[in-house]
Amino acid sequence: MKYAKIRKEGKWPLTISNTWSTTKLFINEEVPEIVEFKKSLIAGIESGTVDRFAETPSQMMSQSYGSSQYTPQQIFMHNSEIMPLRKIVQLPQETKCVTIVNTIKVKPAKYGWYYLTCFKCPKQCFGEAPPYKCGDQHETQTEILRYKLDVEVGDGQAKATFVFWDRECEQLIGKSALVLRSEMLADGIHDPLDYPEDIDLIAGKTLAVKVKWQPKWKTGSVIQINQADDFINEITSQFPPTDVSCIWRLYFMYLIILYFFSLELADSCKLSYLLCFFFFFCRFLKDWSRLLLRN
Ligand SMILES: [Zn+2]
Repeated sequence: MKYAKIRKEGKWPLTISNTWSTTKLFINEEVPEIVEFKKSLIAGIESGTVDRFAETPSQMMSQSYGSSQYTPQQIFMHNSEIMPLRKIVQLPQETKCVTIVNTIKVKPAKYGWYYLTCFKCPKQCFGEAPPYKCGDQHETQTEILRYKLDVEVGDGQAKATFVFWDRECEQLIGKSALVLRSEMLADGIHDPLDYPEDIDLIAGKTLAVKVKWQPKWKTGSVIQINQADDFINEITSQFPPTDVSCIWRLYFMYLIILYFFSLELADSCKLSYLLCFFFFFCRFLKDWSRLLLRN
């Protein structure tokens, strides 16, 4: 753990929190330091220098590893509603949703593509030169750059603006805001409102997005993204069917029945029409049942 604030046990139980901007938390990864730590723990228990207050080191560590019993998918979908974008934009109250969107383009924002953040709290800092001050008057001496991008997203039926924050932007662009800014400065571009080309890497992607919809601002604040195809397919399959597709199938069924009864058909044709009818009927029933369950 890097840059963690560890408060000793005393009046309160032992706590570990981050310092907002620089902590990385690895869960169940083969991090060399952790492997080394496990080894030394076992050695410590064996030699008696570490109290054996748990049977095994893994048991000792399991308490802090509680969340890893969930799959990434479950964590992604936790506490949120799976729904298509066209439903999200109609929500009357703040809601956490999981949806699939295409990123269309980055919309220019008043303050540009990045902002300065406070080293003590997650707020934005202001000022032309250091010390930069946040709303709580904390003073920050160095520039801590964070991406913040307004992105137009759509799903073919609806469009909306989602705010992508630092982690997700870095994930999609492949470099940090600091690196991108220093590349621009090296190219002699000093205007913070000038959007570098790399920013366009955000556009044209299909993403699974966990987002907090804020009806007050008519925007979604992105919490997490995932680009994996299986992930995207799984979420798409959980969308409720559109009323339109249900009606379409009904219409097809009607057409097929019409053909079936009004035409003199060869037996082989009849069979294929019957199969067609059966197929649409099944899909219709499936959609209808999902619609009824949903409403
Ligand atoms: Zn602050």
